[in-house]
Amino acid sequence: MKLKLLLTGNELMTGDTLDSNSAMIAQMCLDSGIQVNYKATVSDDLDQLVGEISRLSASSDMLIINGGLGPTTDDLTAEALAGALNVDLEEHPQAIKHLIAWCDTRNYDLSEANRKQAILPKGVEIIDNQKGSAVGFKIKLGHCLIFCTPGVPHELKTMMSREILPQMRSLLPTSHQPKRVRFRVFGYGESSLQEHITKTYPNWPKQLELGFRASMPLLELKLKVDYQEDHKLLEKWHTKVEKLVGGHIVTDDSRSLAKVVVDLLAKQNKTVTFAESCTGGKIASMITEVSGASDVFEAGFVSYSNTIKTSVLGVSEADLHEFGAVSETVVRQMLSGALKASGADVGVSVSGIAGPNGGTNEKPVGTVYLAWGSQNLVQTRAFYFPGNRVFFQKIVAALALDLIRRDLLGIEEAPIYFRERKIPN
Ligand code: AMP
Ligand code: MG
Repeated sequence: MKLKLLLTGNELMTGDTLDSNSAMIAQMCLDSGIQVNYKATVSDDLDQLVGEISRLSASSDMLIINGGLGPTTDDLTAEALAGALNVDLEEHPQAIKHLIAWCDTRNYDLSEANRKQAILPKGVEIIDNQKGSAVGFKIKLGHCLIFCTPGVPHELKTMMSREILPQMRSLLPTSHQPKRVRFRVFGYGESSLQEHITKTYPNWPKQLELGFRASMPLLELKLKVDYQEDHKLLEKWHTKVEKLVGGHIVTDDSRSLAKVVVDLLAKQNKTVTFAESCTGGKIASMITEVSGASDVFEAGFVSYSNTIKTSVLGVSEADLHEFGAVSETVVRQMLSGALKASGADVGVSVSGIAGPNGGTNEKPVGTVYLAWGSQNLVQTRAFYFPGNRVFFQKIVAALALDLIRRDLLGIEEAPIYFRERKIPN
């Protein structure tokens, strides 16, 4: 089933309006198992519109045209469609009825401009617009079914869900029953995960679509089949991929990393604390973005300077001097101090060099030490994430949450994050 989109409007071409409608249409269609395979955007130019409607309809089963149904002179969809169909325009009685009712409920007189919205290509079928004055309409051109839809996003959304999607679904063969599973993964980049999967499973089944979407700090991994007969295959490969990606899978729903951590803490009846240096409070901020954070989080510490590391968290001045603020010894003491001061059950501390200044040969920009765990069992590790300051802070904050997540789940295997690079000697 080939579905194409034609977005219309000068405002889209100039960038005055950002085209969000095509993403909305595509996602709604995908949820119904139909994938948009092409989209084009054109200005309010009659010849161009006629040309594109003819061209796109010749090579697709369905075409959704969006925008240009309004009352103004730059709204040309009806005229362009009539041109492509080679039929006349005429006033459509059902569209006039809709317009009169729409005006009545608002106590408006039906203006000439509004009346234009009922002048449609001969032979179209009306699609109800429950939210606005412009009716939608559909008609076949060759073997392609064309839907004309309003540009105003909330009108479009309602028309899509109530009218167009049910009609589109009814045209699909009964065996067409798409199913998908999604994982949200931390610690892999797109290419490294693709490589891992391809190397492990060189004979990946053709019917099983594999998709990636980076949504920093997580990577979304999607498996999809289109037909009922492949649902079993999806189940089998779901299990295989789950095993392969293992502890890197944060969730199989749409929760954020922080939300997963908050949920785990709540379930285990535990509280958490953070002692943050280079992340400047980002970890605490990620946690407090989650509603329900107050059940699991009472205090975090942004201990940026050495003086505060000592006075608030009890880090030894001598150790700071001997090992430096970015060291295993210091993150251990930061964590211990934060756990003591907050009374939390578990925590994580971070100290690193975000750059661009402050790096040395021994500890270059991108070096970070983390300590995590509880008073009884603290683990530490150094990582190296060279990059800009903002990237570094984001990745380290996420890393801290992921280490807590693994700790809470009792995942023992030591994670390999991204293409982990060794700290140069
Ligand atoms: P129209 O149906 O072309 O008169 O469009 C009505 C209004 O819908 C425009 O003024 C835009 O604000 C909005 N609109 C049109 N196309 C899009 C689009 N692709 N994405 C988001 N908004 C749009
Ligand atoms: Mg327009």
